[in-house]
Amino acid sequence: TPGIRPLVAGNWKMNGTRENLDQIKAIADGLGPDLSGQIDALICPPATLLYVATAIADETPLMIGAQDCHTEQSGAFTGDVSAQMIADCLASHVLVGHSERRTLHGESNDTVRAKAEAAKSAGLVRIICIGETEAQRKSGETLKVLGDQLAGSVPDGATAQDTVIAYEPVWAIGTGLTPTVADIAEAHGFIRAEMKTRFGGEGAAMRLLYGGSVKPSNAAELLAIADVDGALIGGASLKAVDFLAICKAC
Ligand code: PEP
Repeated sequence: TPGIRPLVAGNWKMNGTRENLDQIKAIADGLGPDLSGQIDALICPPATLLYVATAIADETPLMIGAQDCHTEQSGAFTGDVSAQMIADCLASHVLVGHSERRTLHGESNDTVRAKAEAAKSAGLVRIICIGETEAQRKSGETLKVLGDQLAGSVPDGATAQDTVIAYEPVWAIGTGLTPTVADIAEAHGFIRAEMKTRFGGEGAAMRLLYGGSVKPSNAAELLAIADVDGALIGGASLKAVDFLAICKAC
């Protein structure tokens, strides 16, 4: 979108141990002035690598984020990580409402919205993920599902600075399948319109990412679609060469 600086974000999911930190270093080093002058780049490693990843990315253009946060700041929530703890690791972003969290952890729109609010309170940019399932697309419910997820998951008062929306069709995640260019354009046009209606100029300036089987080979085509302001990348973000190739395509 004219005037919006693209964001290329990588989601490592539950992958990566210390030996994979060389990929973080390679991405940080590979974001030369040409690339970092034009796009923002973010990697979301597992929580165990967060603090050391921010140290590696320090004083480079690479930003580091987390993949999820709890709704509360602290307390009796064994195994959970709060937005404050993520900020304390010097990370700047957090994904909320990824389809794997919604499906495998039963997260509702209300939960996702509470997590998004917790993220903002901790000073993190929240990347709020939405997307329809294959069954919902087949029955023609895609835009209704996206509208409901936006209404339920995006907190009031969201701005272009503190909020990014990621459209990830569930059936396109990790499958090698992608929607058609026309389907992505339709979904992103709808999301843009909803965000403008609700947040005015902030919604017009909000970054809308596409996610789902983005690879170096299809990135240029997908990232050129109207209202696609970057990508959220799973599998292809694990290798620096692939992630950097997608950054270049952007
Ligand atoms: C994701 O998990 O956010 C994702 C888009 O995965 P992949 O790129 O592997 O489809």
